[in-house]
Amino acid sequence: MDSSEFISKSRKITCREAEAMIPDYLEDRLSDKDLAVFLNHINNCNKCHDELETNFMVDLTVRYLNEEDPQGSFNLKPMLQKNINEKTARLVHKHRMRKLRALIFFITMMLIILWLLDLAHVLGITDAAAEFFRGIGR
Ligand SMILES: [Zn+2]
Repeated sequence: MDSSEFISKSRKITCREAEAMIPDYLEDRLSDKDLAVFLNHINNCNKCHDELETNFMVDLTVRYLNEEDPQGSFNLKPMLQKNINEKTARLVHKHRMRKLRALIFFITMMLIILWLLDLAHVLGITDAAAEFFRGIGR
């Protein structure tokens, strides 16, 4: 399974909603959930992708002009793609870590349950071990 599949499975939004999210996207203020929703729309809607491109360019130009020592000319399309790729990669990584944490939590809970059952002498692992070592000691 593609690990970024959760992005393509995220909630569908209208172009209006996507456009409203552009400033927050550029300022890196979208929550992980909203970022997935936004990226999903941008990946599938040329109109909004173009809109993002325009906003990205304006945003970049302002930053560029504010820099003391601007170097070289910038090539917009690769820069936007890089920006989108970086944010996607970050989101996929976070998603993976969340899954891993959930798994570790699950395993910990199972161990605690096993331990409690054992304490309650339902499983008798400790009892059997104690018996075993008593057997060796004899
Ligand atoms: Zn759209």
